[in-house]
Amino acid sequence: MNANKSVRQILVWLLGFLLVAGIYNSFRGVESQKDIPYSQFKAKLKSGEVRKVVVSPEMIKGEMIENGQTVNFRTIPLSDSNLVKDMEEGKVGDFSGVTDKSWITSLLLNIGWILIFVFIWWFIFFRQAQMGGKQAMSFGKSRARQQDLKKQKVTFKDVAGCDETKEELKDLVDYLKNPKKYKTLGGTLPKGVLLYGPPGAGKTLLARAVAGEAGVDFFTSSGSEFVEMFVGVGASRVRDLFERAKKNAPAIIFIDELDAVGRSRFAGIGGGHDEREQTLNQLLVELDGFESKENIILMAATNRPDVLDPALLRPGRFDRRINVPAPDIKGRLEILQVHAKKIKIDPAVDLNIVAQRTPGFVGSDLANIVNESAIIAAKKDKAQVDFSDIEESIEKMIAGPQRRTRVISEKERKIVAYHESGHALVAKIIDGCDPVHKVSIIPRGPALGYTLQMPKEDRYLTSKKEILSRLSVLLAGRAAEEVTFGEITTGAHDDLSRATGYAQKMVLEYGMSEKIGPLSLKKDESEVFLGRDIVRQPTYSNETAKNIDEEVKRIINDAYFKAKNVLIENKTSLDKIAGLLMQKETVDGNEIDVILKESGAAA
Ligand code: ADP
Ligand code: ZN
Repeated sequence: MNANKSVRQILVWLLGFLLVAGIYNSFRGVESQKDIPYSQFKAKLKSGEVRKVVVSPEMIKGEMIENGQTVNFRTIPLSDSNLVKDMEEGKVGDFSGVTDKSWITSLLLNIGWILIFVFIWWFIFFRQAQMGGKQAMSFGKSRARQQDLKKQKVTFKDVAGCDETKEELKDLVDYLKNPKKYKTLGGTLPKGVLLYGPPGAGKTLLARAVAGEAGVDFFTSSGSEFVEMFVGVGASRVRDLFERAKKNAPAIIFIDELDAVGRSRFAGIGGGHDEREQTLNQLLVELDGFESKENIILMAATNRPDVLDPALLRPGRFDRRINVPAPDIKGRLEILQVHAKKIKIDPAVDLNIVAQRTPGFVGSDLANIVNESAIIAAKKDKAQVDFSDIEESIEKMIAGPQRRTRVISEKERKIVAYHESGHALVAKIIDGCDPVHKVSIIPRGPALGYTLQMPKEDRYLTSKKEILSRLSVLLAGRAAEEVTFGEITTGAHDDLSRATGYAQKMVLEYGMSEKIGPLSLKKDESEVFLGRDIVRQPTYSNETAKNIDEEVKRIINDAYFKAKNVLIENKTSLDKIAGLLMQKETVDGNEIDVILKESGAAA
């Protein structure tokens, strides 16, 4: 569409240029010729001053001598039967006749040539464009690939180790299979499902499996394909993708790397990106435009859900968000088993050990390890893959550039396990804490582990006691490191800055410090971010500032002391939780309860 336009534009310009050039040329010819009356021409002939004559039905042109100089002349011919005789007598050196060929005809002839040239050029361009993956001529067409279901049907069986995620996706499958059931009840299902998690954790695979289980068409595309150089191309690709899916409904549209288009419009240095914004808007329009009755579900994947434009996450758009985490040790074992089925492997190989040795590895890493081990074994002419091949393959993987950071030494694992157990244990034991849902030492983003607490109910008010408990939980990671190893690491850095933030708020905003009193010393009501904090003027005296600092320090110290005491008193439980974590990588709240009961601690 774009290309056609530009070709046409070039053509118009070219023609215009030729026209001007042609007219100019013919006028220049006119100017250098002297128009003379026929009578003067005859007189000149008689005086023998004409050198050359060209006769055409419309015009007589030639050269004559005037004041000793050769001058081009022209005149309108009259019906003159004596002309040839006169010319012979006048000693005209060279005379001839031509048929009429005005400047318009010659111009048209020229244009003919130009047209042929342009056509050839256009033809070559067109052919090239077609050969180059139809890139130039089909800018606006989505390059989404449609999966041939009969060829490679992926089902939930192919996705291992994420039972919770699969459970969440099952009702989508059910809906795509019997939409009538849902429609008669009047329910609407989510149009947009966002899968988020680290790269290679199996998001694409899961989306495929949903399509495979439901037996519907699967259209896959990537966010980066929508962000092209040309403005408007991305938007038209999005439109095209949805149109194709609608024609093939029921269907699943899958967009990988959603963050490439869906990045927050206001975020980031360097201002807006027109093309991305247009594409994003088109995506929003399509999302709002299709009804759930069309039996299309849009699935998207990202590893940066935090940078997505809030507009995408609004109700009615990507209102279902599903986490696809990196697998734990059990998940890794299951993934290894799935992929090991595809190769010939020595039955004596214990995949449990492989799973233990690959903390932080995601599904694609594990698939690669298995695949690579088969290649290594083949190189050595072995009949089947044995443990040494797998070991070699793991080492290769670990040595790879990005993977090195993912592998945690045994010592670090122990520290992380104790750190997280500290958070969990303190949260279990002291009052006023949200229940512990899950503790994990599987790296997640920059964090080496995490403790998940789930609030029992929605709360809008938080008491002083609750904030103090929260502070103790935050500081418990560091306290656990100190109690166990006698030294502390940088791992608690984020905990500390969050705890300090809470303590400052208690003193400055919530009036929760006895020493300062029920004052809110915060001046600026707007959200504090980036540079604003620095500019903010304190509205209190130096002495008050000193008191504030002391209060913040006291609150933090008290909370830390409390956490440390809890951990010292329950050191056996701490050891047990940390031990279980190192063994299983993820421990849930109930398992901690069991440990606490065994140790006789009040849970
Ligand atoms: P993502 O979309 O999250 O980046 P993919 O779905 O593209 O990850 O996964 C890449 C490959 O890794 C898959 O084709 C599959 O071979 C393997 N893989 C990832 N996760 C799993 C899993 N849970 N079970 C089995 N194989 C997996
Ligand atoms: Zn921590």
